[in-house]
Amino acid sequence: MASNLISLTAPPKRGHYDAIIVGARCAGSATAMLLARAGLKVLAIDRKPYGSDTLSTHALMRPAVLQLWRWGLLEPLLKAGTPLIGTTTFHYGEEEITIPLAASGNLPGLIAPRRTLLDRILVDAARKAGAEILHEVAVGDLFADTRGRVRGIEIRAAGRASLRVSADIVVGADGVGSLVAKCVDAQPLRRGAVSAAHVYGYAPVEAGAGYHWYFRDGIAGSFIPTNDGLACIVASVPTSLFDQRFRLGHARARMDVLEALSPALAEQAARAPKDARLQAFRGVPGYIRQPHGPGWALMGDAGFFRDPITSHGISDALRDAESLARAILDGSEAAFAAWQQQRDMIANRILDTTDAIARFDWTLDDLGERHRRFSAVLKAEVQALAGQPMPARRAKPSTYRAPANQDEPPAGADLFRNGTGAGS
Ligand SMILES: Cc1cc2nc3c(=O)[nH]c(=O)nc-3n(C[C@H](O)[C@H](O)[C@H](O)COP(=O)(O)OP(=O)(O)OC[C@H]3O[C@@H](n4cnc5c(N)ncnc54)[C@H](O)[C@@H]3O)c2cc1C
Repeated sequence: MASNLISLTAPPKRGHYDAIIVGARCAGSATAMLLARAGLKVLAIDRKPYGSDTLSTHALMRPAVLQLWRWGLLEPLLKAGTPLIGTTTFHYGEEEITIPLAASGNLPGLIAPRRTLLDRILVDAARKAGAEILHEVAVGDLFADTRGRVRGIEIRAAGRASLRVSADIVVGADGVGSLVAKCVDAQPLRRGAVSAAHVYGYAPVEAGAGYHWYFRDGIAGSFIPTNDGLACIVASVPTSLFDQRFRLGHARARMDVLEALSPALAEQAARAPKDARLQAFRGVPGYIRQPHGPGWALMGDAGFFRDPITSHGISDALRDAESLARAILDGSEAAFAAWQQQRDMIANRILDTTDAIARFDWTLDDLGERHRRFSAVLKAEVQALAGQPMPARRAKPSTYRAPANQDEPPAGADLFRNGTGAGS
């Protein structure tokens, strides 16, 4: 299996953990935080630096904001200057529909924090709870026992033999290109058929602005106020149109889409400095993967991907973090089955309603109905989340615990073994 060679300046402190999580962004660090808060020994590893950016247009929907509030993390995000968003406006051609957010104690408004802030706050909260988080370290493989049960991860360090660290469960929170999904050969339960491309940049915005979603036949755009007095301005098109029109340069093609959607939106985007960088995502069809097996689980984008056009990936990641944490803490087969059942039900609804928008086969007359269907899914999700207790450890030991010979070896250099890479 291919792996990045890394120089490991600070190896993991233990040789065995209750849970190892590959990937430490919104899915992985939230799971690490919840498991550590419940008393588990957790290691999360990410190959990217602490506080680094990633592809995202930042818009959080109600379920994500509610989760952050429940975990005590909404306040630090607001204190860091993330603007509260009080209205959402849908622009269907010339028609505008503004929906004020019904603010309440646990949902004072929506927010769209930069990932450099959101992911950092989640990592900080996980560390504060006792989780160990390593950045700039890549997991190169998993290893399994003779019965095929995943027993841990393998880190390949430059100039050194492989470091193996074992765990009762290895969680893949490692995004769309998930190494964990590949190693365990997680089967797709469903594959979406459509994808859209999203090209975005940042421009100055006045305080108090709301979310704006723009639609015209075959194209879409969005205006999302984020940190630092900036709005993320996005042009969205079917991947086929991106391949034809954006090949010769993203800047002009994006501006053409924004102008066609709304001259005022294009004018706002033109306030960006001339040398401002754009980010482009060509699109990936949605999928739902089998999320667990012997000794492993997949969550966040690694387990379920939907097009970014409905801005629901972070909501999915945070919901998944809590329900998977509950299953891990329970430890029984039944708890994992219940987690999967809930995840599959919500993921299928989200994928149906997202693909109905990302398909770009709508007319402006029927698009409102598709948005209402998506909103009904969000409403049900928020109701389900609001009534849930925080994940807590069961009194009885978990059934997934490793046998005694998997117990903690001494920490330090002797953890390095000659890597045989017995990947599963
Ligand atoms: C263009 C775009 C715009 C989006 N906009 C929004 C939006 O507005 N709102 C919203 O809610 N969602 C949005 N999303 C979706 C959202 O970004 C994802 O759903 C979310 O990031 C998923 O989080 P995650 O933690 O599962 O995965 P990721 O954020 O992908 O994190 C996975 C992490 O795993 C690490 N990793 C991978 N392999 C390894 C390895 N072998 N070893 C160590 N580390 C590894 C990676 O470095 C990465 O940091 C957008 C997505 C895209 C592409």
